[in-house]
Amino acid sequence: MPQILDNALGAVGNTPLIRLDNIKRELGLKCNLLGKVEVTSIGGSVKDRIAKAMVEAAEKDGTLIPGKSIVIEATSGNTGIGLAMACAIKGYSVVITLPEKMSLEKEAALRAMGAEVVRTPTEAAWDSPESNIGLAKRLAAEIPHGVILDQYRNPNNPLAHELTTGPEIIEAVVSTPSTTAHPSSGKVDVFAAGTGTGGTITGVSRAIKRTGHNKSCIILGVDPVGSILALPESLNTTGSGEAYIIEGIGYDFYPPVLARDEEHISSWVKTSDDESFVAAGRLMRSEGLMVGGSSGSVLAGTIKWFEESEEGRRIKETEGANVVILLADGLRNYIGKKWFIDMAMNSKPPQVRELLTKILGRDPS
Ligand code: PMP
Repeated sequence: MPQILDNALGAVGNTPLIRLDNIKRELGLKCNLLGKVEVTSIGGSVKDRIAKAMVEAAEKDGTLIPGKSIVIEATSGNTGIGLAMACAIKGYSVVITLPEKMSLEKEAALRAMGAEVVRTPTEAAWDSPESNIGLAKRLAAEIPHGVILDQYRNPNNPLAHELTTGPEIIEAVVSTPSTTAHPSSGKVDVFAAGTGTGGTITGVSRAIKRTGHNKSCIILGVDPVGSILALPESLNTTGSGEAYIIEGIGYDFYPPVLARDEEHISSWVKTSDDESFVAAGRLMRSEGLMVGGSSGSVLAGTIKWFEESEEGRRIKETEGANVVILLADGLRNYIGKKWFIDMAMNSKPPQVRELLTKILGRDPS
């Protein structure tokens, strides 16, 4: 029922699960392809959930002291935006350390909500003092009442997904009846997500498996070429250490909150920037979903898995199997990025373009 919320934190999460039926048709899938669309969370990404959970837990256990504490966090931007939102509401100062490659749009959103942002070299190794993680540590040591909530280690990161993201997905699937038009197995058969800290994939996997909803659910991890999170290790040899443009997924170390084992993650796929951008464009054009780059990676990785693995080919041909892909953030974060502008400006609807050219007597662009 609609009700007045105390503040913006009441509008974190509760995101829709949306059928990607046009893409399903284009790919000739028999299974259902469903997008968990996190851009509708009020801060615009899946990371609102953990920001809220980490701040609330830290207030409860006395780590954060109102009027005193200064929140410092190393992020690729979205956790920072969630923290800036929570801290704007609660009255804490925020300092975000952000690698250079992350978008200006994220920095502007952070600053608009009152956070201070310090850029760090993208290529700095995670454990060097220059990296965003290294600098956050130094700042926390030198800033009086500086507190790092530490999304890489904080159990409230995966827990937020185990308690919210996962149950929301399960609830949506369980409560939607199977029909002739939309047959459903009644359970989540596959869950695919990109991995940054790994909090999302670990927490959702626990929600699906530990609750007994579907102990044999296939959990698919998506990792960019250049990152080292995928298993087996041999997947990471091509392009190891190479720079990639996609933001928010992939690392040069294993974040402790990522349960990088077969019990949690059944299979891994590597994705390139280019295939991620193409797939993000497909989500926009075929489904009208204004998602970010990592959402493209998850769709691209899932398509590859459908084509290249035996299990993927089986699921693809299984009517009623529910394949849920996590679409972590939205276009707001990337609207001025070259990859997006190039993709958008080169998107030419041929039929209308031809008509317009005839009417105007020139190319409409
Ligand atoms: N996509 C985007 C755009 C993100 O910002 C993040 C978080 N860094 C992720 C995916 C991955 O989420 P997680 O940290 O839970 O693995």
